[in-house]
Amino acid sequence: MPGKNLTRDEAIARAALVSVDHYDVALDLTTSEKTFRSTTTVTFSSPEPGTSTFIDLIAESVQSITLNGEQLDPATHFDGVRIQLPELAGQNELTIDATALYMNTGEGLHRFVDPVDDEVYLYSQFEVADCRRMFAVFEQPDLKATYAFTVTAPSHWEVVSNSPTPEPTPVRDGVATWAFEATPRMSCYITALVAGPYAVVRDEVETRKGTVPLGIFCRKSMLQHLDADNIFDCTKRGFAFFENEFDSEYPFAKYDQLFTPEYNMGAMENAGAVTINEIYVFRAKVTEAIIERRALTILHELAHMWFGNLVTMKWWNDLWLNESFAEWASTTCQAEATQWETAWTTFGTSEKAWAYRQDQLSSTHPIVAPIRDLEDVEVNFDGITYAKGASVLKQLVAYVGREPFVAGLRAYFAKHAWGNTTLSDLLDELAATSGRDLDTWSKLWLETAGVNTLRPEVEVDDQGVVTSARIVQTYAEGYETLRPHRLAVGLYAVQGDALVRTDRLELDVDGESTDIPELVGRAQPDLLLVNDDDLAYAKIRLDERSLATALAHPRGFQDSLPRALVLGAAWDMTRDAETPGRAFVDLVLASLPGETDSTLLRTLLGQLQTTVAMYLAPEHRDESLARTVAALKELATRAEPGSDAQLQLVTAYAAMLTSAEDAAYARALLEGTEVLEGLAIDTEMRWTLLTSMAAAGAASEEEIRAERERDNTSTGREREARALAARPSAEAKAAAWAAGVESDELPNSVLDATSLGFGRAVDPSVLQPYVEKYHAMLLDVWEKRTHAIAEGIVQQFYPAALASRELLEATQAWLDAHREAPAALVRLVSENRDSIARALRAQERDAAGQQG
Ligand SMILES: [Zn+2]
Repeated sequence: MPGKNLTRDEAIARAALVSVDHYDVALDLTTSEKTFRSTTTVTFSSPEPGTSTFIDLIAESVQSITLNGEQLDPATHFDGVRIQLPELAGQNELTIDATALYMNTGEGLHRFVDPVDDEVYLYSQFEVADCRRMFAVFEQPDLKATYAFTVTAPSHWEVVSNSPTPEPTPVRDGVATWAFEATPRMSCYITALVAGPYAVVRDEVETRKGTVPLGIFCRKSMLQHLDADNIFDCTKRGFAFFENEFDSEYPFAKYDQLFTPEYNMGAMENAGAVTINEIYVFRAKVTEAIIERRALTILHELAHMWFGNLVTMKWWNDLWLNESFAEWASTTCQAEATQWETAWTTFGTSEKAWAYRQDQLSSTHPIVAPIRDLEDVEVNFDGITYAKGASVLKQLVAYVGREPFVAGLRAYFAKHAWGNTTLSDLLDELAATSGRDLDTWSKLWLETAGVNTLRPEVEVDDQGVVTSARIVQTYAEGYETLRPHRLAVGLYAVQGDALVRTDRLELDVDGESTDIPELVGRAQPDLLLVNDDDLAYAKIRLDERSLATALAHPRGFQDSLPRALVLGAAWDMTRDAETPGRAFVDLVLASLPGETDSTLLRTLLGQLQTTVAMYLAPEHRDESLARTVAALKELATRAEPGSDAQLQLVTAYAAMLTSAEDAAYARALLEGTEVLEGLAIDTEMRWTLLTSMAAAGAASEEEIRAERERDNTSTGREREARALAARPSAEAKAAAWAAGVESDELPNSVLDATSLGFGRAVDPSVLQPYVEKYHAMLLDVWEKRTHAIAEGIVQQFYPAALASRELLEATQAWLDAHREAPAALVRLVSENRDSIARALRAQERDAAGQQG
């Protein structure tokens, strides 16, 4: 997106010239359906009078620019993205009167019309650099200021921002103005405006600073589904935990959580006005995994009020610390202060798996990444920034000790409140409280990329007694770093059908080989589990005997954590083409019965789908698919009525079915001629079944349109788009492509749904024409669409289901021919290439069979 970028060098230079005091922002939201009036007055000082700088604004037009009483001509000073400010004074007052655009991409001020009642709902989303779409602003995190918003809007609306909502003043019939008090000093990316006839539920929480008002908002038509009590309960636990842990009172005047439609991410930590994806208001039965995830999200955003909002990174290169800290703090709170005591198991199963996947792409990067500009950071909301960072932070806590860690944090908050910091400010405090040298640790863990593999090697005599045992550490080519790991090794024995832990050793692993002398002279355990308890960030392998034991007793572990670790190792071995995909399918199918850990079940079902679709040799695919679908149906039929497993198994069955017979069964469930006891055929399950029928070519367009009539909501609109695009005909794929890629009419959420349907192909050959079309459209889409939209298209319209050599070669050819393309685009395309290259290696391994 040329022109909209901002480099780190520019930000540093501007911060040296500008010190911002205060913004008065007046918004009139009653002017039209496409645009709104935005008037900003900003006061700022400059230590170098006479120099020039710029302020950011993305707007349709600018009516006037007044700098220190002097008019500047918008025609020559505004280029659509920036306003040039010549001849600064020591103290400056700048007023900009502009016409800004509502967005339909989830960036800036997003406008949504509820199909249920035609009401208009607005919400803002400003990270990384989109508040310039709402008002003129020096858009970088270290130019903190105070903000006073004045909003003119329909008088029946709720208007919410960072400061408590004031009483509105009537302006004219049906229109009122809300004049908010100034915020505390903060970064612009956490300012917010949410407005519309939102429904609200109120409560309050006792804190160190006294009573803090709490609010939960959602669209009126969603209120019937809102379980506010659960959300308030989780929120209050978070307030108590964080105030105590950080020894610092909640920084803001109130805490509102707003569930907003057509939202790109999970949530956003706007100061005192958190926005959350509306999928977390449950309009139908959802999995336990999603409910747990929502709680984590609530705590994650709350943790940001201190780490991120009270103390803020100077530049986006410390985004990782912001996000990793929130991940670590929220998981700790969830494990210690809520019902989800196994939160760290979930962290291992989903977050860490994300980190390992990301860390093995060619685009991987050190946790502390060089962030040269906004484009670099836009693509860095990834598995390194969130999940690997949090894993390593967890290890840092172990390394310095929990008490010194918390003491360091408290000193950090006390010293830097309302300011900006870098990583070293935190490490300095932790070094001081722990007495540890963190320079070496930081270099090995934060400044290098890649994941190590840890493999046990055990030798025994003819009596089966261990004569030597060691853990061998390796690295991937190109990432030649060996790291220190504090970890545990579990010794398990087969007792009946169970695998019982008989001992646990904890040790430091470092270098290429680390002996385990405690094992020597003992009988070889049936199963040796490296990284038991999941303390380390590393891929693990099992020795031959242990692997055989695990495969023979897939349900042997009583706890879900060792089971998840062994299955995770098997998954890695499949992805790394060390074992054939069919063996993984067998292992998962044997492991599914009786699985009650919702996130583990969800993970396994996802891996099963990926394996069957991508990692099997083409000649094995049909047979394995048929076997898998039949097994899922059988398991779903036998699952406990109404259970989480039943819901997940039926959903996975629907996602994978291809045959007319299975589509007919799905129809029978939908129409009620077949009944699975306890399975609610609610709004979402209806769409799940109908979409599976559509994908198999067994549901007509009329039928899909009729379902939309029945569910005439914004979610219904998304589900309709997905089902239509999932149909197997060339015409359906062409229509999805035209709507999503060639037109910019679709709002973000409908576009996302369309791409999901497009990628679903019972016979992937229907996507063959898109090998060429995909690569041909990339530069154009990248240039013309906003970041969030372009990224979604690049990732989700890739015809990955083909998983063929031809696709790999076409993508590589594009990369070879476009070395000068924007780095962020190249990165996304190369990640697509990597996933196909990995799939082809796995397919070759699968073709070779067990002996390979
Ligand atoms: Zn976050």
